[in-house]
Amino acid sequence: MPLPKIKRVLLKLSGEVLMGDQQFGIDPSFVSELAKEVKAAKETGLEICLVIGGGNIFRGMAGAAQGMDRAQADYMGMLATVMNALAMQSALEQLGVPTRVQSAIQMDQVCEPVIRRRAERHLEKGRVVIFAAGVGAPYFTTDSGAALRAAEMRCDALLKGTSVDGVYNCDPKKDPEAKRFETVGYSKVLADNLKVMDASAVALCRDNGIPIVVFSIREKGNLARVLQGKGVQTIVQEEA
Ligand code: UDP
Repeated sequence: MPLPKIKRVLLKLSGEVLMGDQQFGIDPSFVSELAKEVKAAKETGLEICLVIGGGNIFRGMAGAAQGMDRAQADYMGMLATVMNALAMQSALEQLGVPTRVQSAIQMDQVCEPVIRRRAERHLEKGRVVIFAAGVGAPYFTTDSGAALRAAEMRCDALLKGTSVDGVYNCDPKKDPEAKRFETVGYSKVLADNLKVMDASAVALCRDNGIPIVVFSIREKGNLARVLQGKGVQTIVQEEA
């Protein structure tokens, strides 16, 4: 089944793609490359909402594994996503793309709070809206934040840009026989526990009929290709 006509997308980038070739943190030159991809997509007439993870800086699970209180560690992870959002805002604005950051954890001096109607207005005015701090609660991830914002902003698709070029039947880094799906149903993803996004995010997309497009953001020009239906990708949607 092809994708429906797309006017508004939510692009989710995992924090790790902001590292470039580093092991940790933010590589400004790589963020600038990502911003060029977003700009090119926007110039095709799309309305773009962005959600960026925080795994390049801090993940709550990692903190909890080292003895921290899980909720406390998750709040640190959410703050990491705000740093990434600001880095991306800066890169986009250097390219002349007007951008607003809305955070699910209020921090008035730094960015706006999440206000759906205000976000709508930003999109109408041609601004990219970056939603930071996930859903604003611990025990969630930015994948769930992305699915939530995609639903409330009525996005036509959730694009997950990551380091892998789609969804495989097993880990392609470990098994050379691993096969990539062109399309796969939400139920198979959930039943087989395929590594796409966490289950709550997949379920939210399923319940709201939002297709998930998984693709590699590391290849130049790939976002635009995927939006034209030409790139290498996996589409997760209801099976025909
Ligand atoms: N996080 C959270 N609630 C949210 C979103 C994020 O607690 O709604 C925390 C959680 O600790 C997570 C971290 O922020 O590990 C960074 O987000 P995520 O792991 O989703 O980033 P990504 O893997 O996409 O880089």
